[in-house]
Amino acid sequence: MSRSIDSSFYNSKVWKQVRLNVWRKQACICNRCHRPVYVAGLSDYISKEKRLKGIVHHKVYLNANNVNDSNYTLNEDNLEGICIDCHNEEHNSTSVTKPGLAFDKDGNLIKRC
Ligand SMILES: [Zn+2]
Ligand SMILES: [Zn+2]
Repeated sequence: MSRSIDSSFYNSKVWKQVRLNVWRKQACICNRCHRPVYVAGLSDYISKEKRLKGIVHHKVYLNANNVNDSNYTLNEDNLEGICIDCHNEEHNSTSVTKPGLAFDKDGNLIKRC
């Protein structure tokens, strides 16, 4: 059995910090479609109806071999802030999570129903 990525990484303090850094640098704008995205604490000025979820994507996808390597997980060169729509498109044909897991609309790992 190989190690898979679970939610513990995405829930870690250091990831949340790096994630915020990425959004700060991008001024909460999707790197692909250039729409403003909602990031808690950074773009709260966006009205609730207009909030588009932003996700920090790993350009080199995390897998069992690199999930414990901060050169991949926390390296801002490997990170890209994109909106949920662009993120879904990116992952449309690939699976970054282990079978049975998926991202919900908030970008959290959930069990697939
Ligand atoms: Zn986008
Ligand atoms: Zn991604």
